Amino acid sequence: MEIRCKLMLIAVMVFGVILSTASAAKFDASELDDETKGENWLAYGRTHSEQRYSPLNEINTQTVSNLGLAWSLDLPDARQIVSTTLAVDGILYITSSWSVVTAVDARTKRVLWKYDPDVVHKAGNTLRVLWGTSRGAAYWDGKLFVATGDGRLIAVDAKTGREVWSQMTVEPGSYYYITGAPRAFNGKVIIGNGGAEMGATRGYVTAYDAHTGEQAWRFHIVPGNPADGFENNAMKMAAKTWTGEWWKYGGGGNVWNAITYDPDFNHIYLGTGNGSPWNQKIRSPGGGDNLFLCSILALDADTGAYKWHYQTVPGETWDFNSAMDIVSVDLKVHDRVVKALMHAPKNGFFYIINRENGKLLSAEPFAKVTWATEVDMKTGRPVEVAGSRYEDGEVLMWPGPLGAHNWQPMSWNPELQLMFFPYHDLPGYYNDKKIRPAKFKAEGYKFEVGVILAAEDNPADIADSGLMGWDPITQTPAWKSPNPGMWHGGTMATGGNLVFQGRGDGKFIAYQAKDGKKLWEFDAKHGISAPPITYSLDGKQFIALPVGWGGGAAMLGGTMAGQHGWAYGAHPRRLLVFALGGEAELPETPGPIFAKPLDDASFEIDAGLAEQGEDLWGRTCFWCHGPAAVASGGAPDLRSSGVMFDIEALKKVVLGGQRISRGMPSYDGQLDENDVLTLQHYVRLKARNSLSKVAAN
Ligand code: CA
Repeated sequence: MEIRCKLMLIAVMVFGVILSTASAAKFDASELDDETKGENWLAYGRTHSEQRYSPLNEINTQTVSNLGLAWSLDLPDARQIVSTTLAVDGILYITSSWSVVTAVDARTKRVLWKYDPDVVHKAGNTLRVLWGTSRGAAYWDGKLFVATGDGRLIAVDAKTGREVWSQMTVEPGSYYYITGAPRAFNGKVIIGNGGAEMGATRGYVTAYDAHTGEQAWRFHIVPGNPADGFENNAMKMAAKTWTGEWWKYGGGGNVWNAITYDPDFNHIYLGTGNGSPWNQKIRSPGGGDNLFLCSILALDADTGAYKWHYQTVPGETWDFNSAMDIVSVDLKVHDRVVKALMHAPKNGFFYIINRENGKLLSAEPFAKVTWATEVDMKTGRPVEVAGSRYEDGEVLMWPGPLGAHNWQPMSWNPELQLMFFPYHDLPGYYNDKKIRPAKFKAEGYKFEVGVILAAEDNPADIADSGLMGWDPITQTPAWKSPNPGMWHGGTMATGGNLVFQGRGDGKFIAYQAKDGKKLWEFDAKHGISAPPITYSLDGKQFIALPVGWGGGAAMLGGTMAGQHGWAYGAHPRRLLVFALGGEAELPETPGPIFAKPLDDASFEIDAGLAEQGEDLWGRTCFWCHGPAAVASGGAPDLRSSGVMFDIEALKKVVLGGQRISRGMPSYDGQLDENDVLTLQHYVRLKARNSLSKVAAN
């Protein structure tokens, strides 16, 4: 009896200790505004500013040579990882493909829980337009928020992984999908969507109460049909910049990535998307700026009311969205401090904008740009080069639809006043000679943008790419370091005067921030597409990096992105954690694997069927399996798939949905048996051609 009482007493004491630890770690929202606290990585961009700068400096230019792998965790179910990991009070939250979240105790390295929103089975036809990518979660007061490809925004308990609430943010049966990370601020959580390439979509963002999931406000990016009335004066203003019957095409403007909260002015900044469809001759045939496409849009964070906008690409017609991240800084210019935004979108110009009023302060090209000569500082508008709008039916120009910089996050060193981001010089080819604007109709769940892109593979050396340290005061690069290939991870800057970046070839590198000198390198043996984060635990600094090839170019880049040999599903996805003195070994990992196209000489290829198949491929399959049937690792390379020889087996996959659980959608109701046959002949032709190319070499 006495012993039992003593045990109970001990239990109460232990429980009491747990309770007091829990209350000691109570969420303090001010930490999200405080650049000087480095223990946690609480948000997508670490803090509200999205600077991705951590003041931690135990790992620095002097000590980084002693950086080593401390531990690793395999994530066997993950397909691709592009997300930002969160570190909150000693727990790491990793978001992998299909928005699966894994919580890991950073001390014991134990998986605490895994939350799987079961996207592949819930997405239905939306699976046809999904890559399964998810750029991460948000955290607010004990809850973690993740958005799913099929359009849900879900709150889970950060301690238990149990679902607290779930909201469907899009109309079921519409073409919207979500790859972006939500952002949390002032007790609200906000999310946008993508889909401008996949059917008639009208972009919008929605803010919800973080605790209850109740909708707080919604803001549309482009106007709807005037006959239905406008939601607000901003839409009325925007409608004056559109022509024709744009609402029939949706208009686009989808906010699929950049959302920044600014506590200085209580603004939400949105990086808005491209037109739906891309081709303005179809979307808005009489021209016009088409607000608020390709803009930075400032809203009141409490109400969602319009505050100001700056449009980077008036009348966009190239997929030049402004969805790249928006970084809020206090820029020191001589003895003044300018409250500025920095933005390096697809179109190749680096913008500095006054974040109080949206006034353009500076815009200069950071990469090869041939569509415009400059941004006129009087009007704030780009000076376009004649022919860029494929007025004559086609144009080859820099940059193209993948942009000069994509969603890979940039980071800022406030002492050096330098911005670090990956760039690429990659052209785009646009052709609308065969497209009759009056006849254009987006079918939905197919890639249809009103312009035909090159159907060929992208050669390995088509792009020059690198990491850049950009000086916004002079608007010139302080340094550049070349990268192999073109698709690399985002960056992180630290108080140790270092910049970290993972590359497409699997190398994780630390650079000296001031001059880009390479100080340290680790071979992760798998493509890196996610940005690193840093946190501290019991006074020691750690760096966490998810490894797993992913994102747009990993799906549709062809040889350009496939050159590193990250074959679909072949290389383990992992979280790697580094610390000074780390001596862990990377678990065994296969080397690069390249597709070996198969052929059977007895298979008679019908040229007519193959030609029909090429057209269909360019609007459906290429989205994941690559241009000219050359995959880059995000999905199987079908030239080397046995299924492609067996038409009945192929029908079971394409029409019967046999591989839905792996993310391969069913096209039942959209494609028929003859369509499948044309695809088979197209892939057989591409496989035979690539083999004869190899033989000729
Ligand atoms: Ca786009």
